[in-house]
Amino acid sequence: MGKTLTEKILSDHLVEGELETGEEIGIEIDQVLTQDTTGTLVWLQFEALGLDEVQTELAAQYCDHQTYQFDFKNSDDHRFLRSAAGTFGAHFSRPGNGICHQVHKERFAAPGKTMLGSDSHTPTPGGMGELAIGSGGLDVAVAMGGGPYYIEMPEVVSVRLEGELPEWATAKDVILHLLGELSVKGGVGKVLEYTGPGIESLSVPERTTITNMGTELGATTSIFPTDDNTKEFLSRLEREDEYVDLSADDDAEYADEIVVDLDDLEPLIATPSMPDNVVPVSEVAGTDVDQVMIGSCTNGAYEDILPAAKMLEGREIDKRTDMIIAPGSKQSSELLAREGWSAELMAAGVNFSEATCGACIGIGHVPASDSVSLRTFNRNFEGRSGIEDDSVYLCSPEVATAAALTGEITDPRDLDDVEDPGFEMADVYDGSTADLIAPDNAVDDGLVKGPNIGDVPLKDPLESHLGGPALLKMDDNITTDHIIPATQDILMYRSNIPKLSEFTLSRVDEEFAQRALDSDGGFLVAGENYGQGSSREHAALCPMYLGVEGVLAQSFARIHKANLFNFGLLPLEIDEDTYGKIDQGDDIEIVDDVDEAVRSGETEFTIRVNDDWEATGTLKASEREREILADGGKLPHTKAQQEGS
Ligand code: SF4
Repeated sequence: MGKTLTEKILSDHLVEGELETGEEIGIEIDQVLTQDTTGTLVWLQFEALGLDEVQTELAAQYCDHQTYQFDFKNSDDHRFLRSAAGTFGAHFSRPGNGICHQVHKERFAAPGKTMLGSDSHTPTPGGMGELAIGSGGLDVAVAMGGGPYYIEMPEVVSVRLEGELPEWATAKDVILHLLGELSVKGGVGKVLEYTGPGIESLSVPERTTITNMGTELGATTSIFPTDDNTKEFLSRLEREDEYVDLSADDDAEYADEIVVDLDDLEPLIATPSMPDNVVPVSEVAGTDVDQVMIGSCTNGAYEDILPAAKMLEGREIDKRTDMIIAPGSKQSSELLAREGWSAELMAAGVNFSEATCGACIGIGHVPASDSVSLRTFNRNFEGRSGIEDDSVYLCSPEVATAAALTGEITDPRDLDDVEDPGFEMADVYDGSTADLIAPDNAVDDGLVKGPNIGDVPLKDPLESHLGGPALLKMDDNITTDHIIPATQDILMYRSNIPKLSEFTLSRVDEEFAQRALDSDGGFLVAGENYGQGSSREHAALCPMYLGVEGVLAQSFARIHKANLFNFGLLPLEIDEDTYGKIDQGDDIEIVDDVDEAVRSGETEFTIRVNDDWEATGTLKASEREREILADGGKLPHTKAQQEGS
């Protein structure tokens, strides 16, 4: 039987296990990526593990999420990250040089490589044939030290593309269509491998828009085969020697197949406040729009901004609407400036932001109260824009620009005298590399830690008895943004866990952190898909610091579940009935000898509630995850292994 492309790359990197769906495999990692919000912990953990040099082919540290240096804390973090990259051997991308996924795509991502990144949109370069997976920072630290990355072998699903996109439909509409069809849980436990004749009509930047938002489907990663378009893209970056021909075997067998006929697509939009609330633009046309933003790691490339510039050439945006462009990389900004497009955009009334995540996580350009913001980003979770009860829509740059022109949501096909700008790539990406410091050119020797940078707290090994109150009961789809918001006022404490912990779940219940601290242990209770969203390991580390012992949820998002293991929190799945019956404040006790049961492979745990009734919680974990959990998390576990070897 032939192999899928995913299986081929995984086989080339397999160090443990077999490629059987659901089995745990260990793979060798070629490249790692980390960014500023997760990176400080990555390097603190790298240091705590006693590692002294990056062992992967390549490691890159980006500063993209919080580039604005409001006070000394962000600047200290950036200085620390530069010193860590220089000391341990990683590339350092300065604040303002761009969003990790865009810059990585331009500079480093390469077909056939494996990559691990402490950011949930790490799968972006799947559009150029790299198998890239998002994970918690501790997994990245271990991989960077040369250790394998462990993951349950996902199902490989074929997404077969037929036909060609019609006028005004874009790559963004392909992924919005899939989100509408499959939901934010539709890709969980799967690699989405794109196949079929429709692929050849899509350039690499279009493909990476699709693979970027595979994350919103919950997919482990998404990947395209390589072809002449990949070769052309690499040659424009002057990296053609990195091209490798990659495709699935003709007789490859997939777990499932989803067919998308590109000819049938039309401009789509995700309405507030989930990326899968997708409708045709025409359905919400006429809605007043206060703000339009083009950018992010999804649509921040030169090729995403160029259509907006062409649509706005010689025109002005509507007086009721603000329009901001946040390029994904400084290289994109440079190209736009050199070709005169920045001037066209400015003349039309557009403001430019520096190349940063910023507004995507509520840092800058926060929408006005009770207003509508149309964004080309990938997430519109409630409150993520920096204001509660926000109203954020997700769409293509073309749909966003149409709204800027008219002041209301507009199907671009209804615009008078504006033609579909089509898709065009830059001739050559010749942006400067001044903002990228290679390990050979490192300027630091030794770590530089400011006063806001503390040690990573450690947890004791699992105890025999776990019990305590249900500290908080939550709904379905709780995101890591709910657990630890990424807004400026909070995330500036990312390297200071005691302080950051004070904000844990404050968006759900302001009293939570104090209640957890006051209680001697306890549990979180949640519905489906707990921990979806970013890879932020603070979302597990801070509850751990507050004394939370475990999470009882109907289901968990993949990266967050791995982070719970990594920080020694017991993730038990409960059924809908049990979830419905547990109330906040109920007394929860795990009846089993937990340490013994976890170590011996027990899957079913008896949960006793209020000393009155019992239910079953299921632990789905590999042997390795059980050992990590029992040892109190991955850091103590890895240290114990190092000491034992
Ligand atoms: Fe940055 Fe937003 Fe992309 Fe995350 S999703 S990397 S915050 S632009």
